[in-house]
Amino acid sequence: MEPSDHYANAVRAEPGICWRMVSRVPGYRVDTPTDCPEPVQWTGRAMVGRRRIRLWSCGRHVEGLEDLRPVLTR
Ligand SMILES: [Zn+2]
Repeated sequence: MEPSDHYANAVRAEPGICWRMVSRVPGYRVDTPTDCPEPVQWTGRAMVGRRRIRLWSCGRHVEGLEDLRPVLTR
């Protein structure tokens, strides 16, 4: 398996869900990533493996995304 495959497995590409997986807080199994719990504020695009895909991000995880646009939340 290539490193890019592993990376792709750690990225979420669902509307309204932050693209970054985060480690659970201490007390849980630390080797099991979970969805970022932060509210989504941005949408953008990033290269994942060999594909450029559309992703959503919270305010803390915009690094690495291009063509950022604010997401209107209510
Ligand atoms: Zn996030």
